[in-house]
Amino acid sequence: MNDRPQSLRALSRADDYDPDSMPVARARELIGRFLTPVSAAECVHIRAALERVLSEDLVSPLDVPAHDNSAMDGYAVRFADLEADGEATLRVAGSAFAGAPFKGQEVAAGQCVRIMTGAVIPAGADTIVMQEHVQVRGDLVVIGPGHRRGQNLRRAGEDLKTGQVVLKRGQLMRPAEIGLVASLGIPEVMVFRRLRVAFFSTGDELRSIGSRLEEGQIYDSNRYTIHGMLARTGCEVIDMGVVRDDPQLLEKAFREAAAAADVVITSGGVSVGEADFVKDLLGRLGEVVFWKIAMKPGRPLAYGRIGDAHFFGLPGNPVSVMVTFYQFVRDALFALMGRDPVPALPTFKVPCTTNLKKAPGRTEFQRGILTQDGQGNWSVRVTGEQGSGILRSMSEANCFIILPEAQGNLPAGTLVDVQVMEGVV
Ligand code: AMP
Ligand code: MG
Repeated sequence: MNDRPQSLRALSRADDYDPDSMPVARARELIGRFLTPVSAAECVHIRAALERVLSEDLVSPLDVPAHDNSAMDGYAVRFADLEADGEATLRVAGSAFAGAPFKGQEVAAGQCVRIMTGAVIPAGADTIVMQEHVQVRGDLVVIGPGHRRGQNLRRAGEDLKTGQVVLKRGQLMRPAEIGLVASLGIPEVMVFRRLRVAFFSTGDELRSIGSRLEEGQIYDSNRYTIHGMLARTGCEVIDMGVVRDDPQLLEKAFREAAAAADVVITSGGVSVGEADFVKDLLGRLGEVVFWKIAMKPGRPLAYGRIGDAHFFGLPGNPVSVMVTFYQFVRDALFALMGRDPVPALPTFKVPCTTNLKKAPGRTEFQRGILTQDGQGNWSVRVTGEQGSGILRSMSEANCFIILPEAQGNLPAGTLVDVQVMEGVV
């Protein structure tokens, strides 16, 4: 929307602005105001364009297909030679294959041409009769009634026309788009530069995999879930490892990350206790738009800027990290990468077969398992324990059950909103 981010001061004058308890939809809207896509672009070979985003409209330099051609194996005929009620007998004047057109001048009256799928329609012919609908007698074919002028023909330009915008700026290049570009004979496309995202975990208790745990220590799993989620978005990932809860080390890490990347993501250190320190630090290095969201899990989620970089301070709890990533970070990254429109995770309603515990006041993202019964009907059930430290709930789940802020407990059988979390970008 705007080139320069709106200032925090302007935001804070709004009546409903509460950086310590931001409703989910409002938080999304606020983040959205700060997202200006990268502008630099590069030219890449179409093979390398997979998962990249087009930075300009792509216009077709030619008609696809280039010629009228046959959609069937059969005979190219003049429709006027066929009989409305009886049989017509035509002489086979030659053949036309894909890549090897009919050699004669044209199909004359009383003649036809043996033609294969994809072959150019010979001059004079206007209709294709499927081979299953003719009787062959030497070099004659006998064709019954019931045909339509122009049947079984693929017209020049029916797929794409010269000058037509085939793909728009902001389009993600998937295998279909790459094939489409290849069908136009175009070897290279302009794509936005990759978004650079730096991330680190914070916490004195964290140890890296491969080292031994002492009492009270845990392995740093967020590093791996965040890396995995980032890698799937197609951005360039800068993994800065673990930073201890030490003011000087954290300041150094924040500065380095912001200098190297478009987006800085941290996990841990934004909940009660550690937050004040991080708040002070970010107050000096940039500005923070909000600290807490009215959601569960994931309440302590900070969003702001450090220098020119966007900052997402994710919670420490492993489930909260994933939920906040899917609910806020993913869409923001896609917008910054230039994707237009930003694809939403598919959300739909299904009955929930289990009771749901829910206190009003916060939007909840419970972990659910969507399944289909023998009749093809979908339903969802909750994964069980919903603690924000139970990463197994994310592994078992294939969707979020989204329960709105005002919602209380729900009995089994209620229709709920589910959001599919994997496999769709
Ligand atoms: P924090 O937000 O730093 O207070 O962390 C909240 C909880 O998440 C604590 O139990 C932390 O030990 C845990 N936690 C923080 N960072 C990580 C991490 N990188 N991997 C796994 N657990 C973490
Ligand atoms: Mg911590």
